Amino acid sequence: MTSAADRLASVQSDIRAAEAEFGRKEESVTLIAVSKTFEADDIRPVLDAGQKVFGENRVQEAMGKWPGLRGDYAGIELHLIGPLQSNKAKEAVQTFDVIHTVDRPKIARALKSEMDRQDRQLPCFIQVNTGEEPQKAGIPPREVDAFISQCRDEIGLSIIGLMCIPPVDEAPGEHFALLEKIADRNGLAQLSMGMSADYPVAVGFGATHVRVGSAIFGARDYT
Ligand SMILES: *Cc1c(COP(=O)(O)O)cnc(C)c1O
Repeated sequence: MTSAADRLASVQSDIRAAEAEFGRKEESVTLIAVSKTFEADDIRPVLDAGQKVFGENRVQEAMGKWPGLRGDYAGIELHLIGPLQSNKAKEAVQTFDVIHTVDRPKIARALKSEMDRQDRQLPCFIQVNTGEEPQKAGIPPREVDAFISQCRDEIGLSIIGLMCIPPVDEAPGEHFALLEKIADRNGLAQLSMGMSADYPVAVGFGATHVRVGSAIFGARDYT
């Protein structure tokens, strides 16, 4: 049986291979190891293998695991990749280092006022609902340019890039290409896209951050 540390090494080598294949600069893609649903003891071997950048999708769950792990391992960078309620903004700003899921003015304002209060300005990505799926979070593509300006100029968030989760039943490439196009015309350098099933494809479309969970930690058990 392969271990999480073995799978981490193989994901990392896939990323380096995709960088080479698509003419991307070496180590221009950051691997976010998505540890949602896994316990601290499942995460430790991946930390021991040297991984520092992790993603979680729930504020409450992250608060239960990461303060302890941060005490044992230096230099951890924790990314919030799941939907955020404005009443959790305080805990989100305390717990995370980067936010990927800014998608409406209310959340942008709540985050900014918490960042000011805690004197902790976190870099943020705006989530774009590239497939315009009604059940999915993210700002629709036609509203994104105005929302980026609002977040930057009016609200004062530090917006570093865009994030998307393509529809499960579609080829992801056109969604990645759309995200890259929107980022480009808005002068945003970072693209958070690509998961276990498609991260090498995402590297080809310019991903700077891939969010990989099950390919490292194994299948998730939600029961
Ligand atoms: C769970 C999750 C991932 C990782 O998914 P895998 O398919 O397990 O790699 C990536 N991004 C987001 C937003 C997620 O919620």
